[in-house]
Amino acid sequence: MTTHNGKCQERVREPGDWGGFHQCPRKGVVWFEHKLYCQQHNPPTVKAKSEARSQEHREKWEKEARDRAETAHRVDCYPELLAALEAISNAWANKSPLSWQPDGHFQLLEQARAAIANARPQTP
Ligand SMILES: [Zn+2]
Repeated sequence: MTTHNGKCQERVREPGDWGGFHQCPRKGVVWFEHKLYCQQHNPPTVKAKSEARSQEHREKWEKEARDRAETAHRVDCYPELLAALEAISNAWANKSPLSWQPDGHFQLLEQARAAIANARPQTP
């Protein structure tokens, strides 16, 4: 048990790997559960900072998971989009039977619209 002698009673880890501790050298300014703390080591402040960090990490992980899912979605959509573009390109260059069919361009348009709809981002 550290005495307060006007100073923060938090035990602070020594630098290095030896695992030693020393009393925080800062002036104590806040009492919490019968112990004196500096503003930095005030337990409610420490807890709030820790929770804010956890929340930041959670949001970062969630964003990374959304980004990975979106990348996987784009990879999945690539063949369908490429096929639709190739079909349009071939028809335009008169290399496709659809070029001469009366409803050929509607079929190409529907193929392209379906590929585009499937490729839209899944996350808001
Ligand atoms: Zn302190």
